[in-house]
Amino acid sequence: MATINTHYRKLSAGYLFPEIARRAKIYQTQHPEAQVHKLGIGNTTEALTPEILKGLHAKVDALASVETYTGYGDEQGDTPLREALAGYYRQFGVSLESNEFFVSDGAKADAANIQSIFGEENVVAIQDPAYPVYVDSNVVSGRTGTFNEKTGQYDGFVYLPGTVENNFFPEVPASKVDLLYICSPNNPTGAVATHEQLAAYVAYAREHKAVIIFDAAYTEYISDPTLPRTIYEIEGAKECAIEINSFSKFAGFTGVRLGWTIVPHQLRCENSEEGELHSMWNRRQVTFFNGASNISQAGGLAVLSDQGLTECRNVIAYYMENARIIREGLKSVGLTVYGGDNAPYLWVKSPGDLTSWQFFDKLLHECQVITTPGSGFGPAGEGFIRVSAFGHRENVEKAVRSIIDNLQH
Ligand SMILES: *Cc1c(COP(=O)(O)O)cnc(C)c1O
Repeated sequence: MATINTHYRKLSAGYLFPEIARRAKIYQTQHPEAQVHKLGIGNTTEALTPEILKGLHAKVDALASVETYTGYGDEQGDTPLREALAGYYRQFGVSLESNEFFVSDGAKADAANIQSIFGEENVVAIQDPAYPVYVDSNVVSGRTGTFNEKTGQYDGFVYLPGTVENNFFPEVPASKVDLLYICSPNNPTGAVATHEQLAAYVAYAREHKAVIIFDAAYTEYISDPTLPRTIYEIEGAKECAIEINSFSKFAGFTGVRLGWTIVPHQLRCENSEEGELHSMWNRRQVTFFNGASNISQAGGLAVLSDQGLTECRNVIAYYMENARIIREGLKSVGLTVYGGDNAPYLWVKSPGDLTSWQFFDKLLHECQVITTPGSGFGPAGEGFIRVSAFGHRENVEKAVRSIIDNLQH
C-alpha cells in the first residue's frame, strides 16, 4: 500500500500567479478593447548577447562531430567553468577553490534541494516576504506544522519580517534557529543587505552553529560599490554560509538554465566534521543529478569572459534604466517606492489602507497595469505590490504613462 508524503497537503494553495492570471483574464474579457500592460513578471525579456551566443553556438557545433562530441560531464560542472567562477569571485576580493562550486541547472532547484543535507529537526528562519521555494521545500520535508490561515504563517517556522523600519532587511532572530534563508538583493522587495547587516547574520550563525543559505541571484544588479556582492565578503562566512547563484537574471539564462551553489570546505554545523557538508552536497549531486547541460555551461563560460561580462552588464543596465523610469513615474503620482536602485524590483506601498490585492485591482482597473501583490510572498508583504523592471522599454514606458495618466486619488 503506497501512501503519499502528507506534508504536501500542508502547502498553502500556491494561488498567487494563477490568481493574477485569472483576474487579468476577467478584466480583459470585460474590456476587450483595453491594452493591458505587464509590470509583474520576474522573467528576463531581452535577447542573449553576441559573445554568449558565440559560446553556445561553438558548443552546439562541437557536438556535431565525433572528434569533439562529449556526453555526460562531471556532475559538479565542467572544470573550466568552475575555475572561471572562482575567478569571478576574486574580483570581489573573495578567494574560493574551484571545487567549492557546484554547477547546476539553476538556483531554484538548488534552493529547494539544499535543505536535504540538514536534519529534519532543524528550526528554519526565513526572511519575510520571500521567494516561495525556501518555505515550500522545508514544508514538504516536514520541518513545519500546518499553515495558519489567520497569520499566513506555518507553525514552526521563524519569520523575519522586512519592514519600512528595518529597510526590508530583518534583524537576526531573537531566538535560536538552525537554518536561515536570506536573499540579497531581495526578490520581492529590492532591498540589499549592507556589510554590517550580513556581518550580524554571520556572527549569529557562528554563535549558534547555524547555517545561512544565501541567495545571491541578483548580485549583478548592485551598482552601489559599498554593498556586498557575496556573503563571503564577510569574514567568517565560509564557516557558516552556503551561497546559491544563477545565470538567469545575470545573463538572461532563465530559459537556457544554469546556476551554481558554493559549499565551502570550512562550512560546518553542530554535529558535522569540517568538510563533511561539502562532501555531503557532493554526494547528493553525484547521486541525484547528472550535471548541467554542456551547451549551457559553454554559454556560462562565455558570460564570465571579459567581453561576456561587459555585454551582460549592458543588458542589466537596460533593465535598471527601466527601474529608474518606473520609480520616477510612480513617485511623480505620490506613491511610496522602495528598492529598484540595486535590484530589478520595486516595492510599492499601497496607498491608504489598501491591501496588496486591492491595490493590484486598482492598478488593473484604473490603469490596465498588472503587478504582483506583495502578500503572495509572505505575510509581511501585505500592503505592498512588487513591480518588476524586466520588460521591453516601450512596454515599461506605456505602463508607467498609463499609471501617471489614470491612477485615481
Ligand atoms: C529568479 C530567481 C532565482 C533564479 O532561479 P533559476 O532556477 O536559476 O532560474 C533564484 N532566486 C531568486 C530569488 C530568484 O528571483
